[in-house]
Amino acid sequence: MRRADRRGGAMRTRFSEVCAAAVIGLAGCAPAGPRTTGSTAPRDRPVGQRSVQWTYDATVASNADGVGVRMCFPGRPSKALRPIVSEAIAHIEGLAIEGRDAPLAIEDGVVVLEGMRAGECVRWRVDFRAMAKREGERTIAWVGDSVLVRQSMWLLWPVDATTDAHPTLTLHLPAGTSASVPWPAAEGATAGSAPNYVLDTTVSRWLGYNAFGRLDIDRFAHKGAAVEIVRLDQPIACDQAGVRRWITDAIDGAAMLYGTYPRRRLQVVVVPVAGGDGAIYFGAAARGGGAGVYLLLDDRATAERLPGGWTTVHELLHHGMPFVSDPWMSEGFVSYYTEVVRTRQGHRDETAGWLELWLAFERGAGRGRGMTLRETSDAMHQSHAYQRVYWGGAAIALDLDVTMRLETGGKRTFDDAMKHLRECCGDAVFQYEADELLAILDRWYGTPLFTRIARAHLDARGFPDIASIFARLGMRAKAGVIEIDADHPAAGARAAIMAPR
Ligand SMILES: [Zn+2]
Repeated sequence: MRRADRRGGAMRTRFSEVCAAAVIGLAGCAPAGPRTTGSTAPRDRPVGQRSVQWTYDATVASNADGVGVRMCFPGRPSKALRPIVSEAIAHIEGLAIEGRDAPLAIEDGVVVLEGMRAGECVRWRVDFRAMAKREGERTIAWVGDSVLVRQSMWLLWPVDATTDAHPTLTLHLPAGTSASVPWPAAEGATAGSAPNYVLDTTVSRWLGYNAFGRLDIDRFAHKGAAVEIVRLDQPIACDQAGVRRWITDAIDGAAMLYGTYPRRRLQVVVVPVAGGDGAIYFGAAARGGGAGVYLLLDDRATAERLPGGWTTVHELLHHGMPFVSDPWMSEGFVSYYTEVVRTRQGHRDETAGWLELWLAFERGAGRGRGMTLRETSDAMHQSHAYQRVYWGGAAIALDLDVTMRLETGGKRTFDDAMKHLRECCGDAVFQYEADELLAILDRWYGTPLFTRIARAHLDARGFPDIASIFARLGMRAKAGVIEIDADHPAAGARAAIMAPR
């Protein structure tokens, strides 16, 4: 258990994330989405509907106190605008069609654009200072002179937008204020002019973070990704070079699985907090508008403590996978590789890596008894049986990996399956269900191995029999020690999974 020890101080107790992962010591979380997320979101453009097109101009106020938005429709305007999360509508002020006096009506939680004509623009403002007084710190938080806010709290989206919409957003910043956003820059953007970004439909569905103010931003390329580390402006013990070493080490871990980092851009938001046991207190992956990782860092963490830890690699690995609605798969597959890649990186030897995995499975086996893994996964956010779901899912990954390696003589492995998922489905703008991805993997592999093994574990009431899977690799756990039979016929497969390389 690694629950952070909270220390006092007004600013240093700003954050009190109650994430199950932090509570249970897992220190890793599912990519959280706004409430509009889910597999019910439309996957395709409604038949016969022409896409509404629009642009945003966003002007950040001095001291990042708020933002003014101008949204223009060069052609047919939208019928109405919706907040991305329902609670945002209470913070939208000054709504009006430009050049007209009458304020716009909000009906049933949406802004009705009645009488709006092609070429017209609608304006609104959001006051970040007032919002921070009324909303929880996971939604918006001030740290020193910078603010971190969910983009869902200030952007409105057309109710009739199609999933292929790509609005641009031009960001105007006052002198001395900088910004970090997850969105890609628009092509043709020129240096010196206001930055111009391209948004996509995931902005309107999934979590994304925007930081404004006095930010410490470190931009560099690593393992095929344009990385942007943004640190909110509170002093931390680890200097910028130390932060970069920690993040690049974690990117290296994720890149070991995929060859390069699986996303072209990566926003890493580092928020200093009081507590975290000298490391990361909490982490989450954000997918709205681009790949982001949100990390609450103990402000006293030193550069030496950070590389090789669980949370950062875990969150970075989430971005290699498609967004899956079933936690046993999204958390299970990522948790398996969080242990495996850190051992492959050499942060510990092979035996220590297997022991960590064994101990994690023991924690999983001790929780959520009486229900199947499938039922536990479906009810995870109510039952909080996170350990069972994460490690039950990881056990499925291990069983698949061992089975594939043994039946193909190491020619095909679970690493290949993860790469296939990335290639086939990783850029989808909707959530998959686990069963769909299992069927895709079955077709890729040529036999229904994935569905068969997953179902057997998902429908069992007990935890997967890890001892028998370890035995297939010539290993057993005895009194907290992993014994490895180096002469076992599967010794090569065992080492290929875990050994440092
Ligand atoms: Zn996770």
